[in-house]
Amino acid sequence: MELSSNGNIPAPLAYSPEEVAERRRAMNRAASKKWKAANPDYKKDYYNNNKESFKARKKVHYQNNKEAYKARDKAYKKNKSDETWGKVYKNLGTTCSCPTCTWPSTLALEIDHIIPAKKGLYKDAPRTGVDLRKYIIKNNCWNDFQLLCANCNKLKHRNGGICNCGDPTRKSR
Ligand SMILES: [Zn+2]
Ligand SMILES: [Zn+2]
Repeated sequence: MELSSNGNIPAPLAYSPEEVAERRRAMNRAASKKWKAANPDYKKDYYNNNKESFKARKKVHYQNNKEAYKARDKAYKKNKSDETWGKVYKNLGTTCSCPTCTWPSTLALEIDHIIPAKKGLYKDAPRTGVDLRKYIIKNNCWNDFQLLCANCNKLKHRNGGICNCGDPTRKSR
């Protein structure tokens, strides 16, 4: 190594504090990457060896943030609900399938098994709600379903499979 004119070892290059910090971070990142490659199961083992304490901490965290968790859950469900209804409307339209019904709102629409589930193919499938919508989407079996408004759906089931809501001679029971 070349000595400086006064005989001392040359001072190292001067780095600004930011540069020093950045170089240190880069070294740490490299070291950590290398270490992880050499110990691929460390994280998993660590979790398994401390499972109970992780679970306990998670529980405390949940208790302390219950409202936030609930809000997140609710938002997630709402989102899933909207998403699945969107696909239903795209495939089954946005009006009641009963030919004589004039109900105007999508909000009362229900998914009707054209052939009643208990007699048909869908005995073991979910009957209602988001689970039914997910089922139909997954199995792409739109032809077996239609949308009916809540009234027509009810009338169909109580009137032996025919709605008949537009028939003025229809007697109530
Ligand atoms: Zn209707
Ligand atoms: Zn009807």
